[in-house]
Parts: sequence; C-alpha cells; structure tokens
Amino acid sequence: MREELVALAKLAEMDNSARDNESELKQIPEHLEELRTGVQTLETMLAQEREQLTAAEQLKTEQSSELKDRAEGLQRARKKAAQAASIREADAGEREIEANRRIIKEREDELGRIGQAIEAKEASLAEREKDFEEAKSVLQSEEQSSKTRITKLEEERGKLLNGRDELIARLPETVVKRYERLRTGIRNAVIIINDGTCTACRMALPPQLTIELQRADELHQCPHCRRILIHKNVIED
Ligand SMILES: [Zn+2]
Repeated sequence: MREELVALAKLAEMDNSARDNESELKQIPEHLEELRTGVQTLETMLAQEREQLTAAEQLKTEQSSELKDRAEGLQRARKKAAQAASIREADAGEREIEANRRIIKEREDELGRIGQAIEAKEASLAEREKDFEEAKSVLQSEEQSSKTRITKLEEERGKLLNGRDELIARLPETVVKRYERLRTGIRNAVIIINDGTCTACRMALPPQLTIELQRADELHQCPHCRRILIHKNVIED
C-alpha cells in the first residue's frame, strides 16, 4: 500500500496545483452565461417599451382625430345656435356648444397627458437602448477575451496535470474512486500529517490510527472530516 499512498499523495498535490486553474475554467462560461442573460433581459424590456410607445402614439392619433371631430361639432352647434328660430332652439344650441366644449377640454387634457407619457417613454427607451448596446459590447469583448484566456488556462492545466494518468494507473480503482468522490465535496481531500493531528480539521486522531498510518498498510480517512490521511514518514521514506 505504501507505494500507492505515495502515488496518491502526488496525485493530490498535482490536483491541488491545478485547482485555481480549473475553477477559473469553470467560472468563465458561467460568467458569460450571466452576461448573455443580462443582454436578453434588456432586449425583452426594450421590445416591451417599444410596444408601449407604439400604443401611446396610436392613442394620441385616435384622440387627435376625435378632437378634430369635436371641433367641427362645435362649429356646427354654433351655427345652429346663431340660426335658432326660437328660444327653445337657441337653448338647445347652447347646450350642444357646452357639451362639445366640455369634451374638447377633456380631450385636450388627455392629449397633454399622453404627450407627457410619450416623452417620458422616449427618454427611458433611449436610456434602455444605450444600456442594451453597452451590455452587448461588454458581452462581445468578454467572449473574445475568454477565448484567449481559456486557451491559456487549458495549456497551463495540461502542463500541471502532466503525468496524472500515469499516477492514476498506479492506483487501485477503488482508491481512485474514493479520492475523486471526496474531492468533489471538500478542498484538500488528501492530508499529509506529521503528528497525531489532522491538519485539515485540527482534530486529534486516535493514537492507534496514528500508528496504523505510519505502517501504511491501508487507506485511512480522518474520523472527523473524512479526508484521506497519509503520514509524512510514508512519503518521505
Ligand atoms: Zn480531519
């Protein structure tokens, strides 16, 4: 078992040396995905705001045309009132004039509000368009620089992990499996100890275990943190 423990210690050291490299390689696509989601969100918002602006402009057209109709109605009512042959007709004409005036006033107020809403929407749309263009260009440049970075990281990782397959080949499959499973959950899955303490979790190890670790007859894990323990003497001898 001794030789295997030596190989395992080397494997763990090798994997540790590539850990930052691998975590960056994992983070880059995640970061790009976040940026892409951001761009998509802005694009959706932009489309919604454009629709809202179109709807407001349509409303403005409708209200303007109604206003025009009412202005014509007002003129007709005035003419009718001027030509009234009786007091009753004159009163009716006055009422019609009033009704048209009131509606014209309402439409004008409404048009004022719509105009303000359109202005505000146009301003926010311009802002949104700027954000969208910015986000797109950030994404583009990050995609570009990521390619270079990934190539570099993969090259480095290749160097750092050079000889890894050979180490794996020297280890029983069960040991490799246990090690791989452990290291997905915790940092430093293999710990080199030099006294009766686990240097990872700082817990004292049972004296019997410390003796067995120096004998190097089998694979042991820390009873507290589950890390694989290897005694310093085993790899130094
Ligand atoms: Zn421990």
